[in-house]
Amino acid sequence: MTAEHAKTSTEAKARGLSIYFTGYPCEHGHIAPRWAISKQCTVCQAPIKMGRLPGIVLSQQPRQ
Ligand SMILES: [Zn+2]
Repeated sequence: MTAEHAKTSTEAKARGLSIYFTGYPCEHGHIAPRWAISKQCTVCQAPIKMGRLPGIVLSQQPRQ
């Protein structure tokens, strides 16, 4: 646990890291590392999202 996180996407890219960590919450309140490429937080843009909130699928049905 001695590795330091990069603090900016630029630093992460320069160090060959895929994520960086600002210490500030994202727009959705997640205090999580962010992807260097997309600058999205790793919770908002998780590699696996399937099955997390099935209710959202139902709410996307067309309504009249
Ligand atoms: Zn987030």
